[in-house]
Amino acid sequence: MLRVMASGCAYSLAGMFARLLSSRRVTGGGIVRVPIIAGNWKMNGTRSEAIQLASAIATAAPTRPLPGNAVAKGVAAAEIVVCPPSCYLECVSQATQGSQIRLGAQNVHHESQGAYTGEISATMAQDLGASFVILGHSERRTLFAETNEFIHRKVHAVLGRGLCPIVCVGEILEQRESGRTVEVVREQFLGSCADLTREQMLRVVVAYEPVWAIGTGRVATPAQAEEVHSQLRQVIEQKYDRHVADAVRIQYGGSVNAANASELLRQPNVDGALVGGASLQAESFLVIVAAANETAA
Ligand code: PEP
Repeated sequence: MLRVMASGCAYSLAGMFARLLSSRRVTGGGIVRVPIIAGNWKMNGTRSEAIQLASAIATAAPTRPLPGNAVAKGVAAAEIVVCPPSCYLECVSQATQGSQIRLGAQNVHHESQGAYTGEISATMAQDLGASFVILGHSERRTLFAETNEFIHRKVHAVLGRGLCPIVCVGEILEQRESGRTVEVVREQFLGSCADLTREQMLRVVVAYEPVWAIGTGRVATPAQAEEVHSQLRQVIEQKYDRHVADAVRIQYGGSVNAANASELLRQPNVDGALVGGASLQAESFLVIVAAANETAA
């Protein structure tokens, strides 16, 4: 029996079975990595726009055929996550009820409660329907001075609530041009995910997001993405073992759109995408989801 590695969050058996049958990412060790497409809406939209976008994605989320011409209604090969602003988590949760769409928060504080004006905790995000939390996004690292140490505390807080962190790492252009990309992402990954047990690490999704590609329209080439993803997998193997390295999903993020997603997602170590701008339109987001489903077929 193959072992299915998804987010480690609760799944229905039907969903697990469909993903098991449909994913192409069966490693030498018999592990299946389910592609994950997550939309980071950032600080955009109104409440009604959030509901509209979520509903459009939930309604159109693909129905895909299973082997033997069976059809799993409403079950896609890829896992689909939307990450609205935290104030809209609840209404988006309601709008996506009954669909396969899962919900993510864009950030949380590491403490569970207290005098942290303007913050929300992992418990609150979970209470509003989230099962994922984006952590260490370059905008948080740069604009809000978040360090690996700080992100590390948040990773623990999120895992402690049974949620799945999407941990972002990525180099700035100058670091890439001076040949330091792997060193930078390695340090960010090891710092942010320090002292996680194997079981905890299996619930982490890593997002490789070169900073020079975020919101710039300058996407990494599939070869550039694949190279860093495979190096990150080696870092995970060195820290844990082959099994964990084979199981952890590594998304690419940075100017992914409907036109370039397919080629990126076809790379063997690219297990999905973290999508900013193109996730704000149901149409483009769904094309990216469809590309993930296709590569998983
Ligand atoms: C992001 O912010 O995580 C991101 C990848 O943005 P964009 O797709 O707009 O580059």
